[in-house]
Amino acid sequence: MKILIIAEAQGAEVRHASRSAITLAKNAAAAANGDIEIAMIGDDIAAAATAASAYAPTFTLSDASLAHPTADRYGAAIAQIVKQRGAGLVIAASTSQGKDCVARAAAQLGGTMVTDATACENRDGKLVWQRTMHAGGVAAWVAAHGDTVVVTALQSACEPAEPTEKTSVTALDIDVASLPSAIQFESVSTKQSNRPDVTEAAVVISGGRAFKTADDYERLIGGLADKVGGGTGSSRAAVDAGIAPNENQVGQTGKIIAPDLYLGIGISGAVQHLAGMKNSKIIAAINTDDEAPLLDYADFALIADAYEAIPELIAKL
Ligand SMILES: Cc1cc2nc3c(=O)[nH]c(=O)nc-3n(C[C@H](O)[C@H](O)[C@H](O)COP(=O)(O)OP(=O)(O)OC[C@H]3O[C@@H](n4cnc5c(N)ncnc54)[C@H](O)[C@@H]3O)c2cc1C
Repeated sequence: MKILIIAEAQGAEVRHASRSAITLAKNAAAAANGDIEIAMIGDDIAAAATAASAYAPTFTLSDASLAHPTADRYGAAIAQIVKQRGAGLVIAASTSQGKDCVARAAAQLGGTMVTDATACENRDGKLVWQRTMHAGGVAAWVAAHGDTVVVTALQSACEPAEPTEKTSVTALDIDVASLPSAIQFESVSTKQSNRPDVTEAAVVISGGRAFKTADDYERLIGGLADKVGGGTGSSRAAVDAGIAPNENQVGQTGKIIAPDLYLGIGISGAVQHLAGMKNSKIIAAINTDDEAPLLDYADFALIADAYEAIPELIAKL
């Protein structure tokens, strides 16, 4: 079976989440005796495609009109690439782009989709997939029927693949002008930050409703994150209150992360928040309440007021 990974470029590199998808694809290839290939779509992706070739032979579709991942265009492109390469299994990262674009490709291919997969196994000659459900409360094993199976891999469940020897990069022959263009990119609005993205940071300092203002959150959570070169996360309550930026939200309806260290400060640990961070390697918490549910998952806890503890920590680091 041919397995095609839809990898995302990040500058000259392969996006961290896509490297986790490559790991799941390699596991599937080992379980089903398959071969893996990578496809990368975008504009100005030559360097990232060369980086991708260190994981598997890479095929590119590069055009200025593909600079932004509009779902109709990318979905149709992916469907054409899958047909051209004769892939029976397609794996992408469970990023916003991944879920948006490969879902459309799956529909166009008449394929079956498995989202947020965490593992796979060969059972009686058929690949079955483990996926999280109900805010991470259930780990289900599902079998996908049909000729083309499309899977998104949950980044937090799979270690990113390590590069080996570079292999080949081949440009695909696809008529870009024939791709749909009903969705047009207008603009993207995001805060510029020198901090690593919450999904990619090795250390995440995360703040919740304990913080009274956006300035407090930035000064204390941001200040501590900067001391350790970490990213900043937050609960949904802090986002809803306008205290933390939307892109920092961790949880069922936010980002799903698994950093080396997650420090949750002034966060109670609601099940929807736990769904986004409970796979972190080390979990630490600072809370005034020694019965906060997050403490049940924490390797380390400090019962203290965030407004006193964080300045002390910053001063000591
Ligand atoms: C469908 C749905 C989806 C959701 N998705 C998400 C999601 O993706 N992510 C998410 O986070 N939530 C999500 N929620 C919301 C979730 O249920 C909780 O409401 C939210 O996580 C609570 O945020 P919090 O822990 O910051 O606030 P709270 O639950 O109010 O907890 C605040 C904590 O701060 C502590 N505290 C207060 N003052 C201090 C202080 N000075 N110093 C130290 N500690 C202090 C308190 O003891 C408490 O433990 C979702 C809810 C629903 C219904």
